Amino acid sequence: MVVKKIDADNSAKVKLDESAFISFVQESGLIWGPEPEIYGGLAGFYTYGPLGKLLKNKVENSVRHVFNFNGFRELEGPTIMPDRVWKASGHLGTFSDRIINCSKCNAVFRADKLVEEKFDVSADGFSDSKLLDFIKEKKINCPSCSGRFNDKLERQSLMMKTKVAGQDASLRPETATVTYLPFVRMYQYFRKKLPFGVFQIGKAYRNEISPRQSVLRGREFTQAEGQLFIDPKEKDNWDRFEIVKNEHLPLWDYTLQDAEKIPVLMSLENALKKKLVSTKAYAWCLWLAYMQFRRFGIPAERLRIRQHHPNERAFYAADAWDIEVKTNNYGWVEVCGVHDRTDYDLKQHSKESGVALEAIREDGTRFVPHILEIAFGTDRPTYALIDLFYEKKSEDDGKTVFKIPYSMAPISISVFPLMKKDELVEIAEGIYNNLSKDFIVDYDASGSIGKRYLRSMISGTPFAVTVDYDSIKDKAVTVRDRDSGKQERVKISELVSYIKEKLQ
Ligand SMILES: [Zn+2]
Repeated sequence: MVVKKIDADNSAKVKLDESAFISFVQESGLIWGPEPEIYGGLAGFYTYGPLGKLLKNKVENSVRHVFNFNGFRELEGPTIMPDRVWKASGHLGTFSDRIINCSKCNAVFRADKLVEEKFDVSADGFSDSKLLDFIKEKKINCPSCSGRFNDKLERQSLMMKTKVAGQDASLRPETATVTYLPFVRMYQYFRKKLPFGVFQIGKAYRNEISPRQSVLRGREFTQAEGQLFIDPKEKDNWDRFEIVKNEHLPLWDYTLQDAEKIPVLMSLENALKKKLVSTKAYAWCLWLAYMQFRRFGIPAERLRIRQHHPNERAFYAADAWDIEVKTNNYGWVEVCGVHDRTDYDLKQHSKESGVALEAIREDGTRFVPHILEIAFGTDRPTYALIDLFYEKKSEDDGKTVFKIPYSMAPISISVFPLMKKDELVEIAEGIYNNLSKDFIVDYDASGSIGKRYLRSMISGTPFAVTVDYDSIKDKAVTVRDRDSGKQERVKISELVSYIKEKLQ
């Protein structure tokens, strides 16, 4: 979970008018909160308004499509588990944030975030003493009162605790662990054949010390995590690698980071040759994750794939890279982690539960499968799409446009009767009903046509359909394209196929 400030060289270019952006996000019905707003709000909890929820659904459906298309099947597990599970997974003992207190006002902050918000470094991997030294050397002071920090770190568990039937339990901090638990059931379902892939989209909870930055760092968030179970001997026997090996990805290995150099576009075949990634199956997972972000419509120049520094990698992880998106408001933001978790999780749960979590090869040998994980959420991509495609045109009349790619637009079409006259309204309602079978459609009959176009553009809606007096005679309507502003006369009977084609 790394959220970093914009790197200094580009900050001026991309920094937005933040208050205009926040009003856009709230007033257009994208994201509200922190909730409960009428009680003053608790940091880290948000409501997706009608437009935001439609957008998040688009993101989640894209994830479903990509995972299913690549042979992963979806599961839905519980969000609460007894603490035995979290003891075995390691979360109970070690899943914590390092916090630091202000010596003057006693405010508490997450130490690594204090550093990352000011400097483009990944402080996650810093040792305690390095983190303290960094804060001292760079003279980072309390953001609330500018006071000095105490020279001491403490740990706060990220687990949200509860009790179920008298037993200690916790809300899940990730979907991954819950996905691993029914391994025996999955193994049966997939006819005792490896590899197989599953994924889960669902809520997870982390008791973050200082959640900020809207839904980028919430205490309750939606994860979308794919898990590939594989025989460790087969990691390099991965046919699907052949299809993607010539794809070029923006790889930023840690030596480049150390030398303050930018990512290099490199083919996966080359990355494997240079041992930047260890296996063909892992390289394929990295491609799948990257391709998902391109499919969301995030431009290539806004993406980079950052290798974990050896000291920031989980102790069991063999390979670990993050995909990062450069947002306008918060700079580079981690949006996905691809990890080779090896056999760590299944071994841990096997030990704690006493149940063998194994597979059998054709020659009869038993082994614990390895897990390759593609871990991301759906809040961050949703936020990134809002952040990247929000456009305020200050040069003319300050019009706001949400230039989201057409395929990801929350609402596809607006339908307007030119006037509130029965004969026009009747045709417009007929069109609305018919289009609603295939698309999300908004019907808007109030105000001038110009105002309605503006509202439609603020919602990012690609097409506006206007029914006018000619429509009665020629059975056609005017379709206005959001980005080009071009208007075309389209037969009402051909409207569905016209829009379907344009949305692709
Ligand atoms: Zn202070």
